[in-house]
Amino acid sequence: MITHVPGFPELPIGTLFCIGRNYAEHARELNNPVPENPIIFTKPISSVIVDGNQVVIPSGSTEVHHEAEMVVLIGRGGRNIPRNEALQHVLGYGIGIDITARDVQSNLKDKGHPWLLAKGLDTFAPLGTFVASATAGSPSEMSVRMLVNGEIRQDGNTKDLLFPVDDLIARLSSFFTLRAGDLIFTGTPAGVGPLRDGDSATAVLGDNVSVVNITVKQG
Ligand code: ZN
Repeated sequence: MITHVPGFPELPIGTLFCIGRNYAEHARELNNPVPENPIIFTKPISSVIVDGNQVVIPSGSTEVHHEAEMVVLIGRGGRNIPRNEALQHVLGYGIGIDITARDVQSNLKDKGHPWLLAKGLDTFAPLGTFVASATAGSPSEMSVRMLVNGEIRQDGNTKDLLFPVDDLIARLSSFFTLRAGDLIFTGTPAGVGPLRDGDSATAVLGDNVSVVNITVKQG
């Protein structure tokens, strides 16, 4: 069981906040409206796996999707953090994959139920090694790529985020006290698609700033 932030072995992982539909093109590809406010959900820590681990497709799903995302690591907590101070609360950046059982999610959405059972299962939050913000580069222009069996499936850039990192931190901290070790999955660019038994997949942030390799097996 992973308990600490990859790359920051002294820092326990806190809450995994996730943002839905933060790229207009991705919202459109799933026939969803572009949101006026960020869609916010969380994943349990038990969903975290790291580089080289295996994603398990649950028996209740036949359509598990990859969603490569830039993930923000909070280093200094706070409440009601102003947008112009928000980036000072960031310790680093990494790549993450918001694994999603799309068929289960569609059912839950139809019923108006929370997305937890589609997004929060064991192995559904692969994380790469986090890199300190000073060396990672600008969070407002980083490529976010997903390769499955060597083929590029997603090739986005954080410059297209509808709600950028400073805005997300300001908004999240208006609802929740942020703490060191909290992670924010910032949403996925277009190109989401299925992962199947036997696949090998890689998600990459920027110019190999952070990388996570996974394999996939049917549970
Ligand atoms: Zn996502």
